[in-house]
This record gives sequence, structure tokens and C-alpha cells, in this order.
Amino acid sequence: MRFRIGWYPGGLVLALGAMLALGQSIGGQGLSPSPLSPSAGSRPQAPPARFLCGDMVAATAQSQGESQPRLPQSYQTEHFVIHYTAGPTSAHSPALDDLDQDGIPDYIELLGRSFEQAWTFYTTPSPQGMGYPLPPMTPGSRYPVVVYALAGGYSGLTWPDSKSGRRATSHISIDAHLYDPYVRQVAAHEFFHAVQFGYNYTASLWWREASADWAAHQVFPDVDTYIIPYYDWFQVPGWSLDYTDRWHEYGDSIWAEQLSETHGRDIIRSIWLNQRGENDSLKVIAQTLGSSGTTLAAQFRDFAAWNWFTGDRADGAHYKDGRLYPMIAPADHPADSMASFADTVQPLGSDYLALVPPHGAATAAPTPCGGAAGSAPVRTGEVIASPLARGLTLRLTAADGLDAQLILERLDGGRITVPFTGGRYHAAGFEQSLRRVVAVLSNGDTQVKHAFSGSIGLGVVYRDQYGYVWDLELSPTGAVRGTVDVGDKQPWPVHGQINGSSFHWRAVNPNVQTSWTTGLDVTAPVPDGPGASIRWTNDSGRSDAWIGALVDGSAPTSRLVNRRGPAQP
Ligand SMILES: [Zn+2]
Repeated sequence: MRFRIGWYPGGLVLALGAMLALGQSIGGQGLSPSPLSPSAGSRPQAPPARFLCGDMVAATAQSQGESQPRLPQSYQTEHFVIHYTAGPTSAHSPALDDLDQDGIPDYIELLGRSFEQAWTFYTTPSPQGMGYPLPPMTPGSRYPVVVYALAGGYSGLTWPDSKSGRRATSHISIDAHLYDPYVRQVAAHEFFHAVQFGYNYTASLWWREASADWAAHQVFPDVDTYIIPYYDWFQVPGWSLDYTDRWHEYGDSIWAEQLSETHGRDIIRSIWLNQRGENDSLKVIAQTLGSSGTTLAAQFRDFAAWNWFTGDRADGAHYKDGRLYPMIAPADHPADSMASFADTVQPLGSDYLALVPPHGAATAAPTPCGGAAGSAPVRTGEVIASPLARGLTLRLTAADGLDAQLILERLDGGRITVPFTGGRYHAAGFEQSLRRVVAVLSNGDTQVKHAFSGSIGLGVVYRDQYGYVWDLELSPTGAVRGTVDVGDKQPWPVHGQINGSSFHWRAVNPNVQTSWTTGLDVTAPVPDGPGASIRWTNDSGRSDAWIGALVDGSAPTSRLVNRRGPAQP
């Protein structure tokens, strides 16, 4: 059974304005002057609710100490002792409902069962359980839990007690008024902190919370309160993974989930093992991924792509419960509405630029160019189409440390993820066959923010028989503007026109030197036909057939086939 978020208002604490203000001051940065407003921006509204777990090692204001009320009652399970008060007028007393009339409030028994389930699942060897050692405890005693009305909006707290090196015994405080099933997640979450304290109680805060929320979900897969922080998290994918505001770090459990689904659940335990000698969890995760044959940057790149495949976009090939998750929803930019863009990406942040065909441009017309994509030569009759079959050209310069990918969303609902390499990509048939192209920029660097910039064109990209790359933008009226890489130091500008069934464009050498001609023309004869050839003629008087193949994919600068192309005299 699944539970809706609205079911837990009593179990969750309403947003605290100060935290939100802090979050917004971080999230609002990063956009340079450009028409781009990617999804990495600030949180538009308050989250509906806020789960606070205290982990008293690093917690700030509350770290002075715990002030427990008097808790005269106790209830023992196999491994736990739960202290509480049953005073009927005490604010610290849980609901005293006692269905089985055994003298123990149902709330306390539910906590007992939940802690025992967590104990069993965490400590049973993998793969039936998770294979963790018992948490550090006082020999001969049960693990102590105290239940009362926690101050400061906390649902649960795990307190290190007797410390030895990076290890610590602990006890747990649980709020007396949580709702089921949330209360079960809180119990499992807090007890995972106790397990963590067997490795390193001073590991990075964000990872302690992320892995605890993830672990609780392993114990109680039917409880989906772990998704609540995702609603905020998915609004700010540009924020650094390790950024903490007492909320974002809970959403980071999706990172643990992605690690677990791609490398197996035991990788989380491996990370905690490696955490024994190092406090910085990012270092430890990078080291652990290295032992698994990948890198933190590559994992984060894949993570950024996975995060697109949630909610309505879940396809079964990414998060197994992805259909339950919220979605990243950047503004759609009609591709003719922006010529250039620039932005920066925070360390371990990601940025999504969503491009859609111009409004009203897509038609049901067949797409001759799209059909010819790949390597087949383009014949005269295929270049001309009305409406023009324009593709999307994306040109991108990204700093080292940034990874770029494209997610191509077809009209039929299919989605594929492709790497963006070589600085330029052409998605043929964009206006006719694609719903959206999403550029995903991810920063795999843990310390430095990185910049990217680029431009967008609607048109065609050809590679001809000489290796020249023609990057041509087509206006709806058929005007041609663009460049051609002929192997010269810079691309040559191109202008021309496509009209009905004829076309002409001309490339001009912008900086004439003796080894190059001053310009060249490419024309299709009129009338055309399937057998009609396209010809080039250069200013030095040479002429021959022009055979261009439409590019559908990466279109890096030219790889010259020979040096006797039309750019030579
Ligand atoms: Zn916690």
C-alpha cells in the first residue's frame, strides 16, 4: 500500500522560514545574463512539510545537550529498552491507546516492533539483510530509546554517548507524537545513525542523513515518506549534492538509491567501511567508486541523466520506483526563441536545458531529411521540403569537469540519452519527430563550479565528400545562414536560399590566402529530380558534384577526406 503525503501533517513539522531563506540565498545564484533560465534555480515555494532528524554530532543550536523529562515507564523488546511516560496529562506522553490491553501503549509497541525490524534487517548478512555489524553498545545492555515531545521540531535524534576515536555508543530520542507509517521510517532512520556510529560518527552530515533515509526505506519499502524531500530536491538539481540546509540532505537519499541500483546495495556498506579512516564522505565515495571501476564524475553524470527519468518519464530502465518520484521540470524553451546561452554549474550540481520545437512549427509532413539521416547521400529532391525539415543544432563549450549529455524525447514517447561530444550535435528532424531535447550538464568536480556557453540553431548539418561540415540554419522562409568548416583556420560564413525545389548557397573565404580559393557555391539545378546532382563551383573555376550526408548526431569540426576540395583553388 502506498501513502499520500497529505496523510502525515501531524507527523511532520511545518517549514521553518529561516531555513527556507537560507536555502534561497544559495539557490538564487548562478545565472548569467542570457535567455536561459534553466532548472537549477531557486526553490519557488515552501515545501509542504519538513522532516527533521537530529544528529547531535553536528547539529548546531540544539547541541548544548538533551533535557529529558522524567520517563518513569519502560518497555523492553529483545534488543531495545524504550523509556516513556504514560502520565495522562503529560505533554510528553504518547497517545495511550492500548488495543491489546497489555498496559503498553500501542505507540510504544509499534516503536518496539519498528526498531526490532530495523535491527534485524541491518544486521542480517547480505543479501537477505544488509550485513552491518551491531552498533556500539554498552556490553550486556539493550539499546536505549527515549520517547517524549522533542523540542525544535525534531522527529528523532541520535546522540553519541561514549566516544572512542571515530566510534561512539549512542541513544535515540523519538518524538512522542508521530504518525504511522512515518514513525516507522523515523525509527529505522535513527537506528541507522547508531549503526553509522560504529564506523564514524563524524562523517559528512549530508551523507549520514542521505544514507540513513535510504536505509530506512530498505527496511520499510512500503513506507514512502522518504519521497517527501524529493519534491524540493527535484526543484533544485543545481544545488551541490553535499549542500545541507536540514532538508536537502534527506533528498540526497536519491543519490544513495542510484548508487545502490547501479552497483548493488552493498556499495553503501563499502562506503561506510571506507569511512572508518576518513571524515569527508565525498572523498570516501570517490574512493569506493574507484574500487568499483568507475569515478565519482561518471557516476554523477549518469545520476544527472537518471533524474530525468522519474514520474511520467519513468521507463523501467532507471529508478525502480521512479514513477513515484517528482520530476525535474525546467521551463521549455522554443528553440527559435534563444540564440545563445551561458551558465555555471555548482560542484556536484546539474543543469537541465529543455528545448522544444518552435510553436506551431511541427507538422505531420514527412521528413525526407530525417529519413536520410546517417550516412546516405542527400539527393536534390531530399534537401527540399516544404515545410522545411529542420533539425536542432546545439553548439556547446563546457569547461573541463563538466559532462554534457542530451536526452532526446521522441513524439512517440521514446527517450534516449546520448553523450554530447565534440562541441556540436545535430538532432535531425527535430521539428517533425522530436518533442523535446534536453541538454544535461553535470559538474563532477567536488570543489569548483564550472561554466558553459553555447548556441542553438534550427536547420541542417551536412558532412560532404571532402569532410567539410556545413552547419546551416534555415529560416522558415528558406533563408540559409551558417558556416562551413573546410579545414581552414576558421569556418567560412555561408549565405543562401532554399526556394521550392531549388537552392543555392555560397561560402566566402573570410581571410584569403594563396592556398585557398576566395569562395564557392553549391547549387541544385532546376528542375530537380531524384537523379539530379548537386554541384559545387568555386571562384577558381573548378566544379564537381557535391554529395552531402545529413548528420544526425555528433558533428565535430571537419575531418578532411582530401585536400582537393572546393576550398582549394
Ligand atoms: Zn538523521
